[in-house]
Amino acid sequence: MTLPAIRAARARPELADLPLYEADRAPARVDLSDNTNRWGMPPAAARVLREAAPSTFTRYPEPYADTLRDELASYCGVERANLVTGCGSDDVLDSAVRAFASPGARVATCDPSFVIVPALARLNGAQCTRVPFTSAYDIDADALRTGGASVIYLCSPNNPTGTELRPNAIARLADAVDALVIVDEAYAEFTDHTCVELARTRANVLVTRTLSKAFGLAGLRVGYGIGAPAVVREIEKSRGPYKVSAAGSLAAQAALRDDLPWMRLHVRLARDARASLAGALEARGIDVLPSAANFVFAPMPGAVRIARRMRERGVAVRAFSGLPRFCAPLEASGGDALRITVGPAEEMAAALEALDTARAECA
Ligand code: PMP
Repeated sequence: MTLPAIRAARARPELADLPLYEADRAPARVDLSDNTNRWGMPPAAARVLREAAPSTFTRYPEPYADTLRDELASYCGVERANLVTGCGSDDVLDSAVRAFASPGARVATCDPSFVIVPALARLNGAQCTRVPFTSAYDIDADALRTGGASVIYLCSPNNPTGTELRPNAIARLADAVDALVIVDEAYAEFTDHTCVELARTRANVLVTRTLSKAFGLAGLRVGYGIGAPAVVREIEKSRGPYKVSAAGSLAAQAALRDDLPWMRLHVRLARDARASLAGALEARGIDVLPSAANFVFAPMPGAVRIARRMRERGVAVRAFSGLPRFCAPLEASGGDALRITVGPAEEMAAALEALDTARAECA
């Protein structure tokens, strides 16, 4: 259904054509569209929610989630003062952009990367510049620096490509700019590389992370950022109090304390599933990008139509079109691609079957 355009009389005119986030959340038999944990919810987190006393929920949570920050500090090997939390890492990103980019300032990001970032920049009155990756999936540091951005957003492993950035290249960029360099590590648990040490030791690097992916708690909306105490403080100011709910905080603490073996087991399964899915796609002649995340990015012409056909068979994946053709697979696909979340073997089999049928129908 299309809603008629409604404009509140005094709404900011520069946001008039900003669309709502279009996520097709209609239930699918196999939902491989949003990179959440397809194996379920960690058991200790589920237990504390079931057993919580009512007063946990009738009272306000801690304004800046200090108990959760302590648990995150030991998980990440940093201090509480290095940590800011938020209602999902989206909230941390939003607050960071607001804290570091004044109205009219520039936010630079890679292309393609996390789709929410240009919208966050615009909502906060900043301009967004998008810089395609190099053909080796690296950042184009010179182009990111051009124009004097106040915030440079990088994502590693990158959504949607799944490719990783080299921490050395990020360190060199951070040293060369007078900007906050955000490194979005929403998929950190699925790889061996991290910029946490960089964030802990530099004055201008913020790593953002989430409990939504490897930890399987997307519905509870718990994200966090790691940076120098002065950076964290500015972001907490712009974020405001009470952003992590009592339920989210309770479940996240339990998960960090008692569910690490569960999380690590499912990360191993996700990595195995990633290798199998990539192999199965390659065997079909689809040139996938090297993924370090819990999804596989598969350039193919007609991806939007193919995804629609897969959806009709109960399998939801994310389709992209019009992407910059910075590497050979995207050149060959005309900028079209599917992003497929990995999951248990039966879901991967269902996805491949739906893909085969959809590709045959769209040929
Ligand atoms: N960053 C990236 C790269 C993501 O893919 C996502 C989830 N789609 C997020 C941040 C936001 O995650 P959350 O708000 O659930 O923490």
